[in-house]
Amino acid sequence: MSELIIKDLHARTEETEILQGVNLTVRSGEVHALMGPNGSGKSTLAHILMGRAGYEITQGTITLDEIDLTELGTWERAQLGLFLAMQYPVEIDGVTLLDVMNESSLAPEDFQESVEEESRNLGLEGNDLSRGINLDMSGGEKKRMETLQLISLRSRIAILDELDSGLDIDGLRVVSSRIERATKEDDLGVLVITHYSRLLEELKPDKVHIFINGRIVESGEAELAIELEEDGYEKWTSSLETSVTLGGL
Ligand code: ADP
Ligand code: MG
Repeated sequence: MSELIIKDLHARTEETEILQGVNLTVRSGEVHALMGPNGSGKSTLAHILMGRAGYEITQGTITLDEIDLTELGTWERAQLGLFLAMQYPVEIDGVTLLDVMNESSLAPEDFQESVEEESRNLGLEGNDLSRGINLDMSGGEKKRMETLQLISLRSRIAILDELDSGLDIDGLRVVSSRIERATKEDDLGVLVITHYSRLLEELKPDKVHIFINGRIVESGEAELAIELEEDGYEKWTSSLETSVTLGGL
């Protein structure tokens, strides 16, 4: 059982505070959806969890299985089983998935065959994976490739930042159902950031969290995603504005 615990997390860039007290726990086998308006800090949260430079944590803690992650490098977090599928996946020339797996303590010993099979299942059979991760791939192919990595590496907790953006309908179905299967069969825990309930049709969330201005303002059941898609965030943003205005009086 793995457990990612985020407690009262505050973080900032030089100019502004972006995360303003995030509290969230993601356990093995659970799917948590994080939904919120553009610019609310969702990707920043994902990047800080994975240890991207350029942010200062001013308060709070991040632990994975009781290990404090805040002082660890990105590769060390990955070795512990944390994975980030980035909103904008980067191309890594000359480093292949098999290279990464050779260095991974989590990957199974004889992985070549399973990588080939998974890549066929994910619709990547036409791609030459011996060149470099994501190299010259289309937007949708990169999202399939991110999924191939997280499944092959046997990650324990995956953060999926808008994995659905850039994917066509078939891609969305194949990727979301593969990840859903991993939550059932391999006990993968997932934090999925998305704007659309479509991704959540296959990858069924246990909880949906609404993220506004750097923190979770409400958490609910799966139906909350559908409500959000119909009504937007106004209910929450307008009450926030009211409290800010009142606070300023
Ligand atoms: P979301 O993913 O919810 O759309 P982001 O986390 O990408 O939002 O960004 C939240 C806000 O923080 C934005 O206004 C963005 O410009 C700002 N921001 C994020 N990272 C940095 C950074 N490294 N330097 C300056 N501003 C940043
Ligand atoms: Mg984002």
